[in-house]
Amino acid sequence: MSTNLRVAVVGAGPAGFYACEHLLAEGPDDIEVALIERLPTPYGLVRSGVAPDHQSIKGVTRVYDRIAADPRLAFHGNVEHGRDLRRDDLFAYFHAVIYCVGSRSYRHLGIPGEALPGRASAGDFVGWYNAHPDQRFRRFDLSGTRAAVVGQGNVALDVARILLTPAGALAHTDIADHALEALSSSRIREVTLLGWRGPAQVAFTLPELKEIAAREDLDVIIAPEELREDATLGPDASRGREQVLALLHELAARPARGCDRRLVIRFMVSPVALHGDDRVREVEMAHTVLEHDADGVVVARATGTRERMPADLVLTAIGYRGSALPGVPFDQVRGVIPNMRGRVIDPVSGQARAGEYVAGWIKRGPSGVIGTNKPDARETVDALLEDVGGEPLRPVLGGDVFARLLQERCGRVVTYAQWEAINAVEVERGAAMERPRDKLTDVDAMLDIAADAPPAHPE
Ligand code: NAP
Repeated sequence: MSTNLRVAVVGAGPAGFYACEHLLAEGPDDIEVALIERLPTPYGLVRSGVAPDHQSIKGVTRVYDRIAADPRLAFHGNVEHGRDLRRDDLFAYFHAVIYCVGSRSYRHLGIPGEALPGRASAGDFVGWYNAHPDQRFRRFDLSGTRAAVVGQGNVALDVARILLTPAGALAHTDIADHALEALSSSRIREVTLLGWRGPAQVAFTLPELKEIAAREDLDVIIAPEELREDATLGPDASRGREQVLALLHELAARPARGCDRRLVIRFMVSPVALHGDDRVREVEMAHTVLEHDADGVVVARATGTRERMPADLVLTAIGYRGSALPGVPFDQVRGVIPNMRGRVIDPVSGQARAGEYVAGWIKRGPSGVIGTNKPDARETVDALLEDVGGEPLRPVLGGDVFARLLQERCGRVVTYAQWEAINAVEVERGAAMERPRDKLTDVDAMLDIAADAPPAHPE
């Protein structure tokens, strides 16, 4: 039995690591933290979401490795909440649990033709080019010349940029081998980003738009008349928004250079159907007008004017969505675990559930950059420490008993030292090709490497 504070953090993405960091820094000296992760690999979207041509952003993993090096933290990879562990199991071993499981599914358009081959969620495409094990058998047909991406956030820009980047320019990144091969023979030359609202409401951010604007091998096409429509920002618009709008105007005024590759940015068009026989061939869109809803938010309303555009591939980048965890409350409308400043709320009583917390996208929804998760996790951990402070802790089963339970339930649990062995293999494979790493996609292959590595560093 153990009476020192023991906390389980479920999900080893940025929010999970920042929650661990704050627990270790601000919790009692003898705190024990278990970081539980479904995959044998840590880092969440830093590994499987950040685009391969944005390698510098991935440098943040060095911070996560430092956090994991604290002897009071135990990483348990290849352990899935809901499959190997249930909520009640965790409470036998831990005084508190923080769910940091992110948003594992996607929003859908809900229009006819969405199930046609050739339409996919941008998130799956991202997982595919980033070697996520869940997407290792996915295939994307890049034999057509035109793609449409629905949505105007940073994910939409990421997938458009990757589709429009010559494979040679990605050859020295950590892109998945299968994606590099498919992109090498890709015939996609034009990608159209479809926004249902106007230029003042785009969700992508300035650095990402600047990066595209600076590409010499790419024409960015914006029809000036689409920019005239309601391009005014409200009085509270941030400087970043103003700069995005100014750059969109600059791009619209820029003469096309006859580049082989084109990014077309459209505004105030909303897909209403996808058409095709055996696969998607066309996007049918309604033109929209902008209105203010009861809360003063600018919304798009479809008009009767329709338009069709050819597209051989349609990626929907309209936002991620959280998934429910067994036994844990879930807000089906917002796709998050209901909470108040990180304390999980029981939807019936409206009261905080003892010992249960959330951080990251499953707490606030899929928004913000990696660093946004730091204050977010801090708020949650502060609430947790406030709740446990002062009261004697109930006895829970100790870490060694928990480790035995995991071995019984899932057999092949991966420690951080074993993840480092997997990492070393990826880095070595990559070095031969002048790449930062050559990612493994097969979980069994990762587990075989882990099994041959010692579970802990020698003292
Ligand atoms: P997002 O920023 O929320 O963008 C979603 C886009 O989909 C918006 O343009 C939204 O338009 C549009 N949309 C939603 N429903 C739609 C519908 N039914 N029809 C047409 N369009 C629709 O989400 P995201 O791009 O998935 O990104 C998630 C988060 O990760 C963001 O905070 C993003 O900044 C971050 N991220 C950052 C980077 C980076 O820093 N480089 C890279 C990737 C992701 P409306 O707003 O007009 O509804």
